[in-house]
Amino acid sequence: MRRRVVLLGAPGAGKGTQAQRLAESERLLHLSTGDLLRAAVKAGTDLGKQARAHMEAGQLVPDDLVFQVLFERLRAGADAFLLDGFPRNRAQAEELDRRLAAAGTPLDLVLDIEVPDARLVGRLTGRRTCKGCGRNYHVEFLPPRRSGSCDACGGELHQRADDSPHVVAERLSVYHELTEPLKAYYRDAGLLLTIDGDRPVAEVGRALLDGLKQDGRVQPARRG
Ligand code: AMP
Repeated sequence: MRRRVVLLGAPGAGKGTQAQRLAESERLLHLSTGDLLRAAVKAGTDLGKQARAHMEAGQLVPDDLVFQVLFERLRAGADAFLLDGFPRNRAQAEELDRRLAAAGTPLDLVLDIEVPDARLVGRLTGRRTCKGCGRNYHVEFLPPRRSGSCDACGGELHQRADDSPHVVAERLSVYHELTEPLKAYYRDAGLLLTIDGDRPVAEVGRALLDGLKQDGRVQPARRG
C-alpha cells in the first residue's frame, strides 16, 4: 500500500472530497494547504493576513508562507500522508522532494484526478463547504442530507468566496500555467497515475483506492 501520496488536479476536480474519504478509510494524515491557509486567515494570524489577498484573488500564496503552514505539520506524520493542494508549482515540488529525501521518506505515488475544463466551472460554482469541518458538497452532484447543513458535523454550509465565477476563472488559469506542468515532472519520476475524475464520486474513490493498493512501479503514462 502506498502511503506517501500527492493528489494532483485542477480546482474542482474533487481532490478535497476524495482526500477526506481516502484519508479516513486508509488512516493517512490529510493535509490540505488550502484548509490550513483558510484556518490561518480565520484565526487572523500574521501569516493569514499575508495570505488573504492572494487567496481572494485566486492566485497562489507565496511559497515561503505555504511551506510554513505545511512543513510544521508534515514533520509529525511523514510516514503516511495525503497532500491535497500541494505542491502547486515546480519550486514547491522540488522543496517537497528535498525535505522528504532528507527524512528518508520519499513520495511513493501521485494521483492525478483529470476532469475536463468545461466541467470544472460548474463544479466550483455549485460547491458548498462546511464552515465547521471544511467538508465539500455540491448543490446538484453531492447534496447534503439536510439542506444547508453538514452531514458529518452539522455545521453551516456556505459558498467559499473564491468559488465565485470571476475568481474561479483566475484559479483555473493559474492551475494551467503553474500546476499542470507538475504532471510531466511526476511522470518523469515514474510516480504519476492518472484517474478519470469525470465520474460519480464513489467510482472515482474506488479508482483512487485501487491506485494506492497497486504494487510495483506506476506505469508511466504515454506522452501525448
Ligand atoms: P484550495 O482550497 O486548495 O483550492 O486553495 C485555496 C487557495 O489557497 C488557492 O487558490 C491559493 O490561493 C491558496 N493555496 C492553497 N494551496 C496552495 C499552495 N500549495 N501554494 C500556493 N497557494 C495555495
